[in-house]
Amino acid sequence: MPVFSLEPRSVPPVKTKFRRIVTDFPVSQSVPLIERLAAVEPRAMQGQPPVVWDQAEGFLVRDRWGNQWIDWSSGVLITNAGHNAPRINEAIRKQVEHGLLTNYCFPSEIRLALLEKIASLLPEPLKKVFLLTTGSETVECAIKLCRTHGAKVGGLSKTIIVSFANAFHGRTMGSQQVGGIPALKQWIVNLDPGFVQLPFPDGYRQTDTSFEAFERGLRDQGVDFDSVAGVVLETYQGADAAFAPTPFMQNLRSWCDKHRALLVCDEVQAGFGRTGTFWGFEHYGIVPDLACFGKGISSSLPLAAVAGRPDVMDMHAPGSMTSTHTGNPVCCAAALANIETIVEEKLVENAKRMGEVLHHNLHKLKDKYEEIAAVMGRGLVAGVVIADPATGDPDAALAFEIVKRSIEKGLLMFSPVGPGSGTVKICPPLMISEEGLADSLAAFREAVDEAVVAHRTEPVGVA
Ligand code: PMP
Repeated sequence: MPVFSLEPRSVPPVKTKFRRIVTDFPVSQSVPLIERLAAVEPRAMQGQPPVVWDQAEGFLVRDRWGNQWIDWSSGVLITNAGHNAPRINEAIRKQVEHGLLTNYCFPSEIRLALLEKIASLLPEPLKKVFLLTTGSETVECAIKLCRTHGAKVGGLSKTIIVSFANAFHGRTMGSQQVGGIPALKQWIVNLDPGFVQLPFPDGYRQTDTSFEAFERGLRDQGVDFDSVAGVVLETYQGADAAFAPTPFMQNLRSWCDKHRALLVCDEVQAGFGRTGTFWGFEHYGIVPDLACFGKGISSSLPLAAVAGRPDVMDMHAPGSMTSTHTGNPVCCAAALANIETIVEEKLVENAKRMGEVLHHNLHKLKDKYEEIAAVMGRGLVAGVVIADPATGDPDAALAFEIVKRSIEKGLLMFSPVGPGSGTVKICPPLMISEEGLADSLAAFREAVDEAVVAHRTEPVGVA
């Protein structure tokens, strides 16, 4: 994968209402900080654009040296309500001043208030909610619930967990096995054969989006349908922001009912308004048996949740499904204020409206450049797939060049993701204004224009 050079380079200054690049880039002062980080952090933490975050507000991120970016990362899909949202900031401060910073599994009113709020927004039958700290933990919990439920309704052979190729569900032992990226599982010496992956019907990498292909895939792997305890999928696949077709999902819902398998939607990215509906699964007109949430649940502090059918959520005895930071009061206060902000400031509607503008413009760019193989996503998440027009293979070098040039123009994104690192992922805070979006699109268009022209003239190798 290409990496960002730490050699400060002369780049033209940028000054718009929202974007400001006033120094060479990377900023010479930031380089020693990045090098000090490299000395004390594992190498695995590297690989992102060399922007040293200092302050962030709304859809803007600043460093200490006068540069300011429009944020198209949301800090990797966290800040749905915007960075440092006043109401969240105030709720955190009030909870700290109130004088309760932790409570583990002991009850607190703020935990109750948050749980009641989330349950009130979820459709039937998702009326019990268990709080955790990270998205990976919610997936681990969902696996545990699927297998417990499988054993209960179908005996000890009902253990298979079906998931999808290219899926990402976290980096812990179980969540990596349910994930669909083989390279990430190489460290696991005794892979559980009860995890089975099928192609994800995105219509691009997998053109057969029929439900028959799902059943055929299971048969080909020798899976007895009644041995399936659960089917786990990202509501949209994070790698490309790819959705499955609605008929596929509706068939999958019925299939899970028929075979008494739990359907799990991992909404760690898709929840809390990101796709222009409050919950991502609303696009499919279905309700899963379990849903996993994280990231945008608080727009700030670490909190995650599993929501589910009461009979499934109540299978485990008191004390057997807990975690030390479950329902931390400060995180709960932040999440409650976040949800109130999303609802009252109509950020889901804004995500839908701004999403239409974003996708319209990205499709125009796709029409212009054959190097853009696909534009996926809905609402304020998009995956721009960059591929070699001759072979269709992901073009990591060009995708990287687009992100690099965007950063130099004051538009912040994380490094390309997806198969072959060829997808430029776009996910601004849901409160981005029309003006902010227009300004960021102008920067993105320039970055793509320049990167494609440079790439065509002299194909960029791995930088
Ligand atoms: N599921 C999905 C869909 C995700 O995108 C992520 C994180 N990128 C996770 C699970 C894991 O969440 P966390 O990093 O909080 O463990």
